[in-house]
Amino acid sequence: MTGLLPDALLRLPHRQEVPFARLTTLGLGGLCHWLFEPSTEAEAALFVRTCHQAGLRYRVLGGGSNLVVLGDIQEPVLRLRLKEPVIHEGGNLTAPASHGHIVLADKAAELGLSGLEWASGIPGSLGGAIRMNAGAHGGEWVQVLDRYRFLTPEGEVVEKRPEPGEFTYRRSWFGPSHIVLSATAALAPSDSTAIRRTMAQFQQRREGSQPKGVRNAGCIFKNPPGLSAGRLIDEAGLKGLRVGEAEVSSLHANFLVNRGHAHPQDFAELMAQVRERVKAVHGVELDTEVEIWGAGQD
Ligand SMILES: Cc1cc2nc3c(=O)[nH]c(=O)nc-3n(C[C@H](O)[C@H](O)[C@H](O)COP(=O)(O)OP(=O)(O)OC[C@H]3O[C@@H](n4cnc5c(N)ncnc54)[C@H](O)[C@@H]3O)c2cc1C
Repeated sequence: MTGLLPDALLRLPHRQEVPFARLTTLGLGGLCHWLFEPSTEAEAALFVRTCHQAGLRYRVLGGGSNLVVLGDIQEPVLRLRLKEPVIHEGGNLTAPASHGHIVLADKAAELGLSGLEWASGIPGSLGGAIRMNAGAHGGEWVQVLDRYRFLTPEGEVVEKRPEPGEFTYRRSWFGPSHIVLSATAALAPSDSTAIRRTMAQFQQRREGSQPKGVRNAGCIFKNPPGLSAGRLIDEAGLKGLRVGEAEVSSLHANFLVNRGHAHPQDFAELMAQVRERVKAVHGVELDTEVEIWGAGQD
């Protein structure tokens, strides 16, 4: 062992003391003490097996577009940097988990494959999108997911097809130590121009309704069944509410934005105020869609 981590881990590509402001779209503070960035599946498996044998907890980071990091993270963080190519076979498109999500939707359009149009405005990585069962405009990953490969917490590679109940609204069955390695979408051959037209319409809708030019993590709260979290927050009169440089967007109330140098505690306080006011006004308990790291209890 060198320092706190086994030598086998330290031989893998890694960096130390990386600010989460650079690793997440929201850009809040906090340091990632150990960031491991394997470029092959074998390295990723070695990382997991070594952590498992040493009884070390680790975290998995994708594009950081669904994360609110409120403090330093001491545990090793794994961010895949896989180099495998995207494979197109018939209507199937397979990509490594670290592949950019928006770029993948664009690739599908270029190849004349329909089914991922809804994905075109969702940032982050494919792995994060599978884990979150990301979705928009009536589409979500589980509708097109043909099969996926992942590492178990013991470091074994498993390939499987999705089964009923594994992927639900912005959730999946994976535990915190599972790592998605790749996924295959079953898509329908179609006309590229028609696909791009639909994507452009979706993009236009986003542009009119989501804040631009300020750092954010997308929707902070899940829509309660049959309701819109954004509307509940808006109707509670919270658009524009600020704590320091953390603010409820005046364009889309479910976007809590970092106006520049928001302090993590200000962001946490703003989230708490929104929940309290929505509960007081509507009697509805909001559940977070984003994942929160470094809050002390996670
Ligand atoms: C402007 C904006 C718009 C957005 N719009 C949408 C939208 O319309 N619909 C929507 O669903 N989401 C939306 N999001 C949220 C976010 O983009 C998605 O949830 C995205 O799929 C998260 O991917 P990521 O790689 O950034 O994951 P991260 O934020 O890095 O991680 C999210 C979760 O996935 C886990 N994870 C990441 N990679 C892996 C992996 N390889 N294996 C296992 N677990 C992994 C992490 O541990 C964490 O639990 C939006 C975000 C932004 C900033």
